Amino acid sequence: MKHKTRDARQKSLSRAQRVVPFIWPLNKSPDTPDEMNTSYGPRIDADRWDFHDGIDLPASVGTPVHAMADGIVHRAGPADKTEPGQGFGSTHIILKVVDPIDGKDDLFLVYLHLDSIAEGVILGAHVHQGDVIGTVGQEDAQYPHLHFEFRKGGPEIR
Ligand SMILES: [Zn+2]
Repeated sequence: MKHKTRDARQKSLSRAQRVVPFIWPLNKSPDTPDEMNTSYGPRIDADRWDFHDGIDLPASVGTPVHAMADGIVHRAGPADKTEPGQGFGSTHIILKVVDPIDGKDDLFLVYLHLDSIAEGVILGAHVHQGDVIGTVGQEDAQYPHLHFEFRKGGPEIR
């Protein structure tokens, strides 16, 4: 009994002190996920299998998009796809953040299909977890949603 009480107290203490590495990009919650439409992994697209590199979070155009962690703006701008495998087909932001697993500064958060990019979200700018960095849009998509993905080691499109 004595043991149980102490364990419970320690548990609640560590929860209160816990640093939240990531929050969800739309509702800002550390533990309640945003509504998800397509998850990471294989999917059928136009009757063919392809591999979805991220997750799609449906939301109306103009919904605020938040920085999921403190980081630096690695890239932000309008669609810049010039050839297959190069650039993005929609307004996008990439944040460079510290990987909470290994402490390395090589984790990239990719946000696509944006309607707008917030003022001050420019190359090299620092953002804080929870900051509004842009808004949900529908560019290069069939319905308004935020496409989000993590890229480890480099921001390049594979
Ligand atoms: Zn997507």
